[in-house]
Amino acid sequence: MAEAFKKSSVVVITESDFDKFGCPVCLVDHKTGSTLISLRGAMVVMCGRSRERYLVLADGVSVSPIGFGDSQPGELSPGVHPKNKSVS
Ligand SMILES: [Zn+2]
Repeated sequence: MAEAFKKSSVVVITESDFDKFGCPVCLVDHKTGSTLISLRGAMVVMCGRSRERYLVLADGVSVSPIGFGDSQPGELSPGVHPKNKSVS
């Protein structure tokens, strides 16, 4: 598990990272998840392999418009995907 996600049980990534790297929890390459919620640039996705849920924010959306886990709308920002080596 990457450092970025240790503080919180909630995993939040950008849509471009999701497209490139897939599930941020079990790191499966291809996208097997199903979208549970899609609203105003935010998607809650459940991985088809790990069954973990995570939040995907459209590119340009810096703060989630929806609540997820214990967080309220406006509290969550995307972290870096564990497989994204281009961001330090
Ligand atoms: Zn997964």
